[in-house]
Amino acid sequence: MLFLLSSPVLFPLILHFLSLLPPTSARQDRSAPRDIHALSADHLRYLAEADPPEWEGTVEGHLGKLLIPRPVGSKNSTLVQNYISSVFKRLGWHEEQNPFKSETPIGELDFTNLIYTFDPDAPRKIIIAAHFDSKYFPDYPANQFIGATDSAAPCSFMLDLAEAMTPLLQSRRDRLRNGTGILRDGFDEEDAGETTLQLLFLDGEEAFKDWTNTDSIYGARHLAHKWSESFLPPTHPLSLSARRFDPTPSVLSTIDVLVLLDLLGHRSPRIHSYYRETDWLHGLMSSADKRLREAGLVEVESGEEGWFSENRYGPGMIGDDHVPFNQRGVSVLHVISNPFPNVWHSLGDDASALSVPAMNRWNKILRVFTAEYLGLAPESSASSGKRIPEDGEARRSADEL
Ligand SMILES: [Zn+2]
Repeated sequence: MLFLLSSPVLFPLILHFLSLLPPTSARQDRSAPRDIHALSADHLRYLAEADPPEWEGTVEGHLGKLLIPRPVGSKNSTLVQNYISSVFKRLGWHEEQNPFKSETPIGELDFTNLIYTFDPDAPRKIIIAAHFDSKYFPDYPANQFIGATDSAAPCSFMLDLAEAMTPLLQSRRDRLRNGTGILRDGFDEEDAGETTLQLLFLDGEEAFKDWTNTDSIYGARHLAHKWSESFLPPTHPLSLSARRFDPTPSVLSTIDVLVLLDLLGHRSPRIHSYYRETDWLHGLMSSADKRLREAGLVEVESGEEGWFSENRYGPGMIGDDHVPFNQRGVSVLHVISNPFPNVWHSLGDDASALSVPAMNRWNKILRVFTAEYLGLAPESSASSGKRIPEDGEARRSADEL
């Protein structure tokens, strides 16, 4: 990846262009901030300490399986795809493989996007995405490029997230099926259950030669186009709620927000907010990080405090997999370190570029962010076999001792 649209003029122009797109009821629903029910201190701790456990190194678990050169169409790419698929099969998620061919500067290649959805029948979704390909280099030793931050580590965060969220999502599904969904303080679990979690592993983000509109983000361009032409059936809730002159809702209409992870896993990332309509989600993620730090649930390396910039909308939009979705009206939260890691697109972007404490911190931030966005709380995790104390209960029993 990537290129920087650093012109301070261009970014407002893009925003202005987007504001000219015809509004639809679905668009307005999607971009509106949701009611967020902050996790209690006990739930925050439970989620941070839930399985899968913290990583102790960079070669273990999911990450170890991804830290190999995996350019588009390679045998290693197939190995990585098979591994990702095996994790979701074990967890019982719906899998959609999206294979396609595309011309590239080095000839026609086979690409595959991998799409995993907890509840494929849910009318809406939050998507968390990253690219799994590593940048192609023709010659040795450059062709040993691993792309640890770009984007093996973000893909491994998504696998960790899937494992941590599955019991919570399953419990909610069970409660809704047996009619014991929660309705309290204006929180309607049936409403919240209409939004599911989708994890999207995109192929072909990297340019084969120089980053251009046609030599980059192959998987994202293919999928955004495909979804824009996949219209919802007339019985879909978003079709039923559409106004008469709205454009026909497509799969893109079902996306509340696309959260794109890229260039993460190293120390001291700097995460800016790029879009006005998702600034509140940048704030939600920043708040998750702050609460985890204040509760001592994440290791903060020396010299590091908050990773999330408080400067709004900048500096400059960055070209990446979100662009073809955003150009079609999808809300985007771009979670990318800016400035890029100093090993960017060099052989140095290997396991040694990663920080284990930083990666554990990302895993916890993403758990809290996703749980709060979806209105999930660990108390619902009946299958864990552990009872979660309500806030105050633990203190009360401590006082009694
Ligand atoms: Zn890259």
